Amino acid sequence: MSSQPVLTLYLDDVVRLRRHHPCGGFDWTIDRLGADIGLRCSTCGRRVLVARSALERRIVDFVRRGDGAPGTPGPAA
Ligand SMILES: [Zn+2]
Repeated sequence: MSSQPVLTLYLDDVVRLRRHHPCGGFDWTIDRLGADIGLRCSTCGRRVLVARSALERRIVDFVRRGDGAPGTPGPAA
């Protein structure tokens, strides 16, 4: 969907991943940022930590952008 070379992630982003969770959910809410990204399954509420590099390969789409996302593209971080 996007040609962005690097994903910028924000708290409260809702992302859709390539593989579904065992509960059947595809959508995850980002609740922690860092070298590892904290995700909460939108379907069952389970929390997991995933390395940012691994997560970037799994994201297929953004369902919703978090409050931290700027309305317009900013300088690359
Ligand atoms: Zn789940």
